[in-house]
Amino acid sequence: MAGTFTFHVVSPEGNVLKEEIEFVILPGVNGELGILPNHAPLIAALDTGVIRYTIEGKKKNLAISGGFVEVSENKATVLADTAESGELIDLQRAQAAKERAEKRLAQRSPDIDIKRAEFALHRAIARINAADRKND
Ligand code: ATP
Repeated sequence: MAGTFTFHVVSPEGNVLKEEIEFVILPGVNGELGILPNHAPLIAALDTGVIRYTIEGKKKNLAISGGFVEVSENKATVLADTAESGELIDLQRAQAAKERAEKRLAQRSPDIDIKRAEFALHRAIARINAADRKND
């Protein structure tokens, strides 16, 4: 049996997850970061995207909208702006948010905050990709 490490995810709303896991892939701003047990110490910025982790042989997802990860002493701690586990994501809400953002971006009128709409679109896409229905 391979080893495990502690995976802790915190958002401004509180603890999202604290589990002993086998593996995690994080959406780093410079590309994906894979963490296994006894990883070297690390601090990295995270993008909006999907966290994929393995617990007791099962794959699970979380959507995050940016943050940081710190790895030390066999523990990975993610501080995320928002974080939702796959089973708690409201897929219809995320699809509605995606459509809203796409409409705003298509308009391109001067009163539209383009960056804000782009961020909303990325958050919605991450949630759609992390929602449990999408797991294979
Ligand atoms: P919406 O327009 O649907 O509110 P948003 O991207 O503006 O989406 P955020 O500001 O990123 O929402 O998040 C607000 C809160 O709602 C956070 O606590 C976040 O975890 C939660 N949240 C947002 N979208 C979803 C979703 N589809 N399913 C579950 N929780 C969500």
